[in-house]
Amino acid sequence: MTRPHGAIVIGAGLAGLSAAAALHREGWEVEVIEARDRVGGRTWSKQLPGGAVAEMGAEFILPGNTAVRSLASELGIGLWDKGVRYGRREPRGGIGTDRSSLDSAVETLGLALAGLPEDSPVSAAELLASLDVDAGAREVMLARAEISTATPGEGIPARDLSGVAHINDEPSPSVAGGNQNLSLGLADLLEDRVKLGDPAASIKCGSEAVEVATAGGHTSQAEHCVVSVPATVIDRIEFSPALPVAKAAALEQVQYGHAAKLLVPLAEPVPAGAVLNVPERYWCWTETGENDRPTSLVSCFAGSSASLDALEVGRGPERWLQSLASLRPDLRLETDQAILSTWDDDPWVGAAYSVSPSSTLSETLRHPVGPIAFAGEHTAGDFSGLMEGAVRSGLAAAGRLIGSDRDQLA
Ligand SMILES: Cc1cc2nc3c(=O)[nH]c(=O)nc-3n(C[C@H](O)[C@H](O)[C@H](O)COP(=O)(O)OP(=O)(O)OC[C@H]3O[C@@H](n4cnc5c(N)ncnc54)[C@H](O)[C@@H]3O)c2cc1C
Repeated sequence: MTRPHGAIVIGAGLAGLSAAAALHREGWEVEVIEARDRVGGRTWSKQLPGGAVAEMGAEFILPGNTAVRSLASELGIGLWDKGVRYGRREPRGGIGTDRSSLDSAVETLGLALAGLPEDSPVSAAELLASLDVDAGAREVMLARAEISTATPGEGIPARDLSGVAHINDEPSPSVAGGNQNLSLGLADLLEDRVKLGDPAASIKCGSEAVEVATAGGHTSQAEHCVVSVPATVIDRIEFSPALPVAKAAALEQVQYGHAAKLLVPLAEPVPAGAVLNVPERYWCWTETGENDRPTSLVSCFAGSSASLDALEVGRGPERWLQSLASLRPDLRLETDQAILSTWDDDPWVGAAYSVSPSSTLSETLRHPVGPIAFAGEHTAGDFSGLMEGAVRSGLAAAGRLIGSDRDQLA
């Protein structure tokens, strides 16, 4: 009797769990090693009294993000529309603009992007500055881009504006009951194969097997390993032999954005809507939940280090709460129940998400090293920075392992 193939997967975020579940479905023996006491990584959902869900990390399933939608459907989990659109935010503050100026600036931007070579080094800030558009509209588009990529405009490749400066009304739902339900659903399929609360500390590749040792002293062996941890923390794992120079250099090159969220329960539910604070580089939204009922929660997302510094996020929620109260005087904020969600101080990522690695860099990042496959949103090319990228990267890593074994058998 032949032994089933086996893999150890490091990281129980959406990438690692998607890889593990795909391998498990093919009859592989899998073990998932996770540093935290929970699954989901940057998908982390807290149920609030009254039915609202506070998403500490990932929130919106963006238009065209098909793999996340398919995963939810495979797991039998529905989506909540949220009643708010990621691509439509009412800008307030700053120079000021109106809807038709904004629509026409977005059209001008679209034409400029269509003429931009794929590998153009031009930054979003440079491209926007070069456009003959309404100054207020330009400022709004830059704010949108800086917030969503969590990066200053000079560090954003101009090509990314096609995704993050788009103003539209396409649906951008989230997973019913919270995005973490995707990870929890995958972990349920894997049963006791997911081991929590003990980080991988070393990976040794021998001639017969890969051996993974955890900080807690547990060791496991398998033919293959999938590393799905963020590039920011991969150096906490000792590789033996060391990773090839090109791979190590690629991991160092990945730029990460910095973001935080403020989630504030409301004394009463309000209709869904989104407001963009242009000068302070954050946006906030109220939303619908189950059965399209308005919830009693306002969520805010601030992107870029400058914004986090200005909102004094490192000192707690107070400064941000003051700003929110003047931006949204219509809301009855339960400030004493506010939740501040920060990621720069998170030991297992230390940032928010990667900023659009180039296609060449992505290719190097996901390239396997011997029996080790690599996954994670930062390896996902056009879908990097998103849940979509995490899921796609996990499925692709599993597919490569399954495919390489089939090739060897052929
Ligand atoms: C504030 C914020 C808002 C976001 N908003 C959105 C959004 O609206 N829409 C969207 O699509 N995406 C959004 N994202 C991005 C999305 O959350 C991520 O792209 C995605 O969840 C990343 O999944 P991953 O599996 O690649 O990484 P992670 O979720 O980080 O999973 C990696 C796992 O590896 C574990 N790990 C690390 N080191 C070790 C080790 N040594 N041993 C064992 N385990 C280890 C970590 O604990 C973690 O659980 C947001 C992210 C943040 C932070």
